[in-house]
Parts: sequence; structure tokens; C-alpha cells
Amino acid sequence: MEAYQEFHRRSIEDRDAFWRDEAALIDWQTPFSEVLDYSRPPFAKWFVGGRTNLCHNAVDRHLQSRAAQAALIYVSTETGQRHTYTYAELHDEVNAWAAMLKSQAVGRGDRVLIYMPMIAEAVFAMLACARIGAIHSVVFGGFAAASLATRIDDAKPSVLITADAGMRAGKTIAYKPLVDEALSIARHPPKKVILVDRGLVPFTRTEGRDLDASTLREQHRGARVPCEWLESSEPSYILFTSGTTGQPKGVQRDTGGYAVALASSMRRIFCLAPGETMFTTSDIGWVVGHSYIVYGPLINGSPTIMYEGLPIQPDPGIWWKIVEEHKVKTMFSSPTASRVLKKQDVSYMKRHDVSSLSYLFLAGEPLDEPTARWANEALGVAIVDNYWQTETGWPILAAQLGVEDTPRKFGSPSFPVYGYDVKLVDTLTGKDVGTDEKGVIAIEPPLPPGCMTTVWGNDERFVSTYFETIPGRQLYSTFDWATRDADGYYFVLGRTDDVINVAGHRIGTREIEEAVQAHPAIAEVGVVGVRDEIKGQVPVAFAVAKDASRVADGAGKAALAREVMQTVDRELGAIARPAQVHFVTLLPKTRSGKLLRRSIQALAESRDPGDLTTIEDPSALTQIREALAKA
Ligand code: AMP
Repeated sequence: MEAYQEFHRRSIEDRDAFWRDEAALIDWQTPFSEVLDYSRPPFAKWFVGGRTNLCHNAVDRHLQSRAAQAALIYVSTETGQRHTYTYAELHDEVNAWAAMLKSQAVGRGDRVLIYMPMIAEAVFAMLACARIGAIHSVVFGGFAAASLATRIDDAKPSVLITADAGMRAGKTIAYKPLVDEALSIARHPPKKVILVDRGLVPFTRTEGRDLDASTLREQHRGARVPCEWLESSEPSYILFTSGTTGQPKGVQRDTGGYAVALASSMRRIFCLAPGETMFTTSDIGWVVGHSYIVYGPLINGSPTIMYEGLPIQPDPGIWWKIVEEHKVKTMFSSPTASRVLKKQDVSYMKRHDVSSLSYLFLAGEPLDEPTARWANEALGVAIVDNYWQTETGWPILAAQLGVEDTPRKFGSPSFPVYGYDVKLVDTLTGKDVGTDEKGVIAIEPPLPPGCMTTVWGNDERFVSTYFETIPGRQLYSTFDWATRDADGYYFVLGRTDDVINVAGHRIGTREIEEAVQAHPAIAEVGVVGVRDEIKGQVPVAFAVAKDASRVADGAGKAALAREVMQTVDRELGAIARPAQVHFVTLLPKTRSGKLLRRSIQALAESRDPGDLTTIEDPSALTQIREALAKA
């Protein structure tokens, strides 16, 4: 492991020289004068004074050598649509979209909210924003109107880009009514909405506000819009993520640091040479989509596959068919998707020639050993578990096979990635823990290039949320538990806070509780994450009805449970819908009124509820046991 260790050591101990070398992987319009300005900890400014542009690095700079090479390969098994855009075609589209945005007075520093299904126009819109220096904020299309409105009010976009509908499992999901509702409740609605009409569902237009994307695009066909050269620290995008409060945080990303981190990671972690194809099965609404569907592969000069559809339709061989057709070298997916595929007949995999594939990267949630082993045996490729967060934008822990082919251990995302000075610390004492001892994963600041630079519009929240939780030390907390074995391998054990992970998607239990409480018949509720064979975890709610007679019998309970689920769908989105809603008359709390979530979760997972010396009324636990037994 010498090569890896030396590489990592240099990134920390000889930081400036290390990152100066990595920064040469991208184009700079103006060279930076200083590698890092860390005069105001924990705020880090990378590549000070350097001017660059994400769109230039992702598109324009490849025109000379790769104009006719595939850039964006679009495949939808929902609509049957397929289209490959070369770098030259992508350049044309992005320029047209940039001109469209400019025609709506969008400029440098303005926000553009993108609420889109997995269609190529979403990528054009993101890159167009980057081109003109506008800050995009992509909101996952599965979020409901109220969640969208919260994010609109935080980002205050001047334009919102959407489509008539998304599609999932052959069913259309109308987006336009959700957007209309969100705009009617938002306090800072954008003045204009640009809508891509896929012809999937009818919708109504608001005169003077809603603009048709294809009409606008025709008007700007052939336009050329120069890249806006941004100072390295200027924001490129905002991406909202859940925390322990009901209010999502806008993770703010810079421009130069992000471009360098992605360019570097493509070589050193994802082992992809320019021209080789990447297939990331995430969604543009998530950080993996931003970094490894859109920016990372394109900055690298690699074709990237954008897929709309399920992993099992039209049949469970679809991803392997895509791998075969496009000679995919590196694939990036989630443990949940792997568990879904693991349940299918293995013959689907064998029908396709996947010999081009060298790596399957999996991230977003703990990768259990049986799934990792299965994927390794079935595909015969390296399975690379990697651990990171929306906040960091690229992996914190991963084997860095482009640096050294270190052996992997199932169940472990291996070691700290270069640039990250990772510590495992005791949350009570703040001291480093020893071998095989449990601690929280923390990062000694400055955070490396590519990581969040602040919480959008709230520096104070950035510092207090992430850097003030470990006693006596200013460390970035990931809020994840882990251990490290004698060989230096990390094993991630789960969150320290009230955030749960459903199919690789992070959701705050508080957010779900607030959504449940939007139902007028609910007095109080506790939501916990319960282990699930496929999704890793699912939310389960324990609710107290205002009027006990409504839940006096099984039929009443079932009816109210259904209504509660619909309320969560409406307030937050179906990804947050509780798998079960149980009714009790009392929730287990401490004498000071704090909900005993860990005990509820333990009971729901048939484990011991733990230390109950502080419980106000033990009968609350009996009720939880009874509710679970009856379910
Ligand atoms: P998100 O910001 O939505 O990407 O979620 C990040 C969270 O997902 C982390 O804080 C972890 O709790 C979890 N996570 C991500 N990758 C892994 C992994 N490889 N192993 C275990 N947990 C992971």
C-alpha cells in the first residue's frame, strides 16, 4: 500500500504542491495566484484568483480533439427514446440553452431552479447555467410541491425549468401541476417557467409566465454564447440535502475546486481514460448525478450515459444490454439497485457481453457483504464501495485504484481519499479512537477542493452544523459512525443523527414527522428508520391520533394510515412515504420530553430497546410492542 499511502500523505503534508499538480487537469482562463486561502477557518478558498468555467471544461475544450465523439448518450426505456449527442452537438444545444436563459435576463450569480425528469434537456440546462455563470439548483423530480416550494424560497431563482411529466414504470407523473402548486405557495416564485413539452400529459399554461422550451430553442438555434469566466470560488450550484431539522440545507459548491476534484477523481478513483464510457445509474437530482452523470465524465472527455427507467424493465438485463451496446468501462450504481438485481434470474446478466466493464462503483448507503460478493461473482469485475455525501461532492473513503490496486475487503469502502485528513473520534471526549473502536467520521479542515464551501446564504449554519459538534476540536463531522481495522480499512456503521437512508436517499426523520403532522387528525408522531432487505432502511411512523375513536378498530386504523401516507406523498414525495403507520396513544419520551427514537427503532427491528432509565412512562413502549405485534 506504499504508493497509496505516499500519495495520500503528500496530499495532506505537501498540500499546495499536490493540488497545483492536480489543477493542471483542467483549463484555466486565468491561472490562480494561490492554491489555498485558509485565512478564515473553516472556510476554504481553493485556487484563488484562478478563472475558469465548468461548461468550458466539460464541453468546449474537447471540441478540438473529440467533436465527433459521443458525449451524452441518452437512453429511456420509459419512452423508448434514444439519442447520442456528440461533443459538437452538445456544444450546440448548450449554447442554444444558454442563449435562451440570457433572453430571460438570467446572468451571472442568478439562480435557476431545475425540476426535471431524466431527459437530455436537463443536462443542457445545467451546463447552460454553468456557461453563463448562473447557479443551478436541481430539485429531484420525486419531491412534492411543498418541498419544491421550500427550496424555491431558499434559492430565490429567477427562472424555473421543468417538463410536462416524468415517467416511471410506464406511468406518467405530471410535473406541471406540482410546479403550479409550488409556485402558488412559494413566497419568492420565479418570474418565468421554461417548460419542455414531452407530449406525455396535457397541461395548462400561465400566460406571460410559462414559456415553451422548443419554441425558445428554435429562436436561439445556432446561437453562440461565450463562457463567463468565474473566479474559482464563485458558486456553481446549490443542492439541497436533508439534516436533522425540517429545513433542508442548500449545499453550495464552488467552481474551480469542484472541476479539479472531479477531473482528478475520474483518473485516480474511477479509472476512466478520456473517450472511455461511464454509466452512472443515479438521477440528476442527487449529488452522484451532478458529479458522475454530468460533470465528471464530461470534464474527463468521456461519453456518459443518462438512463431514464427502472433496472428491471423491459427486463432485468437492461443495464447489461446498455453496457454491451456502449462498451461501458466504469459503472456507478447503488447497493439498493444491486439488491434488486440480485433477486432476478442470473441468466439475464449472462445474455450480454459485459467484457468491456472493469469496475462497478457502489455508493450512497452501506454495501452489505452478500451483495458485494454477489456482484463481484456475477460480473467478474472490481466492486468499489465508496463513501461520501452531498456535502463533499466526491468520495471521502474509497479504494483509489488509479493510484494503486489495493486489495478490497467486502463491507468496507477502504481508505481515506487523498485530500481528506480523516479522523475517527469519540463524540464525548473529542479524542481519536483506537483500532476497531467506534467513532464518528470527521475531517480535519480545510476540506479538500470540491467540497461544499458553505450553506447557501447561511455561513453561520455551515459552521455550527458541521464544525461545532466535536468537543474541543474544529473538525467537520460527517454524522456517520465507523470503525477502522488494524489494516486501516474503514467500516461505516450508520448515522449518528436522526437522518435515515432509504434506497440510498437521505431523508430527515423530522421532515417526515412534519409532513405526517400536516394531516389534521394527527396529534403527534415519531418516525424511525427500520432495516429493509432491499432498500436498506424504510421509514416507519408511530402516530397519536387526535381523536382516538378514529383508530378504534382495524378498519379505522387502515383508513387513517392510508391518509397519512398520502399526506406524506403530497408534502414531501413518495420516497419519504412511511412503509407502515402504527397508532398508539402515547410516544416513548424522556422526562424532559425528548422522543426516544433509538428505543422505538430497536423495537421495530426486534432488538433490545436499550437504556430506559430516563423514560417518562414505560407503558409507551408496551404500546409500541403491541402495535408491531398486531401489524
Ligand atoms: P447523501 O448526501 O444523500 O449522498 O447521503 C450521504 C450519506 O449516505 C452518508 O452520510 C452515509 O450515511 C450514507 N452513505 C453514503 N455512501 C455510503 C457507503 N458507501 N457506505 C455507507 N454509507 C454510505
